[in-house]
Amino acid sequence: MPELTVPELLELDRRHVWHPYGPMPGRQEPLVVESASGVRLRLADGSGELVDGMSSWWSAIHGYNHPVLNEAARGQLERMSHVMFGGLTHEPAVRLAKLLVDMSPEGLEHVFLADSGSVSVEVAVKMCLQYWRSLGRPRKQRLLTWRGGYHGDTWQPMSVCDPEGGMHELWTGVLPRQVFVGPPPAAYEESYAEELRASIERHADELAAVIVEPVVQGAGGMRFHSPAYLRVLREACDAHDVLLVFDEIATGFGRTGALFAAEHAAVPPDVMCVGKALTGGYMTMAATLCTSRVADGISRGEVPVLAHGPTFMGNPLAAAVACASIELLLGQDWLTEVKRIEAGLRDGLAAASDLPGVEEVRVLGAIGVVQLDHAVDMKAASEAAVREGVWLRPFRDLIYTMPPYVTGDADVARIARAVCAAAREG
Ligand SMILES: *Cc1c(COP(=O)(O)O)cnc(C)c1O
Repeated sequence: MPELTVPELLELDRRHVWHPYGPMPGRQEPLVVESASGVRLRLADGSGELVDGMSSWWSAIHGYNHPVLNEAARGQLERMSHVMFGGLTHEPAVRLAKLLVDMSPEGLEHVFLADSGSVSVEVAVKMCLQYWRSLGRPRKQRLLTWRGGYHGDTWQPMSVCDPEGGMHELWTGVLPRQVFVGPPPAAYEESYAEELRASIERHADELAAVIVEPVVQGAGGMRFHSPAYLRVLREACDAHDVLLVFDEIATGFGRTGALFAAEHAAVPPDVMCVGKALTGGYMTMAATLCTSRVADGISRGEVPVLAHGPTFMGNPLAAAVACASIELLLGQDWLTEVKRIEAGLRDGLAAASDLPGVEEVRVLGAIGVVQLDHAVDMKAASEAAVREGVWLRPFRDLIYTMPPYVTGDADVARIARAVCAAAREG
């Protein structure tokens, strides 16, 4: 096929290609990206570059086209891109598992490498259900979560997404019915903690696990909550024989100002999912970590194996880049960079609080959120950001940013200006 012009490409895209949460044929014209480098996306229509305020959905923490990650990919490519993981193993996967075990909260010892965040959540759920089955308690098969969460788009993850955001009405009687409590308030409230304890106790006989995003709820509404609730969950889960799963797919690898958000409360989960920034945004890979208690439990069962094995499990290319990305992160003073971005976003987004239609401005770590009191006009808001030279992807009533950690102060200020412009015009 000859090279496509931008209009040809857009026409074929509209006719044939699904985009996230998109209609078919497409109705909104996407921007065509030709290349990306550092924190900039270069557009194919010749209109120039945009500073990326999204890190390609939390993932590109080191920016694009990074020489160290490129070298890791190139080096691995010349050894092997992929070999099957059944009966074979290789250094990139083993090194990655060891890095994850060493850096993650205490007690997480075993690593299942999955191909995407949603699959890692499926695996986490399977681990928990299988654990109780192995222990002779097969009735423990439901999950409890709080509202406002997001855990992915495949079946089990969908069932614990916020019922509205996850369009549960469309799936009544089809999705597994999970137990929901209200959304966690930002500050600690004893009455809410009591509600958590009471729900876990009431449903203990049928609960396999509680699953939540610690401290920051991402795509379910970009809300922050007191880390103290994690301790409440840990204690209630321990008291009532329920496992605790932390979905750190968005929050992991430093984004909130801790390597993992669970550290804000020093609460270790039984199972933890990571993804998104795992490979520095280079390719898709995720992981489910669990404790020895969970692994041993599964191993004592009638079926003593974890029956899950994706074709591309442990993909060497992705694992090699993930190792390089983690070493790059840990080899620098990442916390200072995240705090620097936090300060820049606080400064730059302060102006948004006074805008008409703005409900709340919140910043935590390298995450900035402006919540409107109305549904955002996505087209107007995105275009306002693009006029400021910035790529943002607002949704629902939210205009938000989580820039790469390498974003310089001037670019952080520019991103904040773009968020304000989008809030004004969206
Ligand atoms: C993005 C996300 C997922 C799903 O990951 P995919 O790689 O998109 O399947 C799950 N949980 C959380 C918290 C996420 O942010």
